Amino acid sequence: MSLTMKQLKQRCLRLLPAVDKILQEKELKEIGEEIPRHLIVEAVQEIVTEKRAVIRGAAAAGELEALDLSPAFLACRVRERVREEARFSLRPVFNATGVLLHTNLGRAPLAAVAVQSLQEAGRSFCNLEISLKTGHRSSRYEHVEALLCRLTGAEAALVVNNNAGAVFLALNTLAAGREVIVSRGELVEIGGSFRLPEVMTASGAFLAEVGTTNKSYRRDFERAINERTALLLKVHSSNFKILGFTAAVQAGQLVELGREHNLPVMEDLGSGVLVDLTRFGLPAEPMVQESVAAGIDLITFSGDKLLGGPQSGIIVGKREYLDRIKSNQMARALRVDKLTLSALESTLRLYLHEERALKEIPILRMLTVPAAVLKERAKVLASQLAAGLGPKWRVGISQERARVGGGSLPLAALPSYQVTLAGRRVGTAKAVRMLRDADRPVIARVRKKKILLDLRSLQEEEDGLLVETLLGVLSQVDKVETGGGDGR
Ligand SMILES: *Cc1c(COP(=O)(O)O)cnc(C)c1O
Repeated sequence: MSLTMKQLKQRCLRLLPAVDKILQEKELKEIGEEIPRHLIVEAVQEIVTEKRAVIRGAAAAGELEALDLSPAFLACRVRERVREEARFSLRPVFNATGVLLHTNLGRAPLAAVAVQSLQEAGRSFCNLEISLKTGHRSSRYEHVEALLCRLTGAEAALVVNNNAGAVFLALNTLAAGREVIVSRGELVEIGGSFRLPEVMTASGAFLAEVGTTNKSYRRDFERAINERTALLLKVHSSNFKILGFTAAVQAGQLVELGREHNLPVMEDLGSGVLVDLTRFGLPAEPMVQESVAAGIDLITFSGDKLLGGPQSGIIVGKREYLDRIKSNQMARALRVDKLTLSALESTLRLYLHEERALKEIPILRMLTVPAAVLKERAKVLASQLAAGLGPKWRVGISQERARVGGGSLPLAALPSYQVTLAGRRVGTAKAVRMLRDADRPVIARVRKKKILLDLRSLQEEEDGLLVETLLGVLSQVDKVETGGGDGR
């Protein structure tokens, strides 16, 4: 007679191996060298506890019969779990998305010299706040201020944690409790987290919106000026563009108006480009130098967008305003550390020789590399992949546009090439998931069941490692079970 469920469950529970027995398995002995024993023991206990719960909760005999309770099988599950826990949470990825500046992917990769600087600064003590001339205390901001002034033509500069922080600090210093006039067409949200109206509220300034979504004129600003007005603000629309019937107040007009009414004018540039990208066929992006030359009193921009440096927010402009901003207590809460400053100084120094900047700053190289070069790389990658993957994958090349992203050059469609991968009887979704789970994850786009690897956002020096990763993962796609796999 067949056993009752209760009897079946009791039998399974008796079959469940003891913790010590699982620990004896060779899979776990092997990893004992790299992973502390107490972590392995803990994982074994967890797995055994989970199995016990599965047995107790089973609703049908079939579920129990499908369970593999051998010590060897359980040891494999334990090994997977401790390996997973030993992996770094934050790790480098291949950006195959075709979006160069991806906030979710950490924005701009650093130039090699910047990485070297931050390693050295990290490893050692440094003169962060001591003057090597006098031996007295100095300011951490001095390390990059002169450089920023030289590159932009501004009188003074300050670096804080990010551009949102820069905008906040400037508004809080100059306009708390008073009004800031902004055009309705420039009340932007960037990346879902930076919303200008909210940053303004947090800073204590009051927003005075003028004009309409598509049109604002000097007279709109002029009419809104009153005794509570503290600042005229211009915001670069960054990640969108209003096309068609439009009018925006030019920087020069705002500066003129500010002078007439004795009011400072601030511009949030977002990206902060220091080189003219139009000579590479890219749309015009306002350069920091141009805003300084136009007479804007304060200009803020990010360090990790088109500048290509570490996360930071840079404020350049007139000394009288920067002196006030520097002495705001909130500056302390937004200050940058030695790692940021060293990487930023290194990056900025590259701009002293524009050609070096274009060659060595990854984001500028990616933006300006000719499509023909990408095509050649795509061909090489495709042939290596086709040879390595065999008939299970159809490898091809496509030609679509890449994007800048990160709220920069929203309309720029960069000519690019992609390696395409289509599985024959191998699931694309599963492959994409496994690529994302690799030790060095590959983040790719999918289009019509094809995986697209865009060459413009991939770093050329990593092409070899990318092929290795793709071959390693894709050859396993039809071998590895998906889902929990456990106990089924
Ligand atoms: C990106 C951006 C910001 C936010 O900068 P973070 O460095 O991400 O804080 C603010 N304003 C504009 C116009 C932007 O483009």
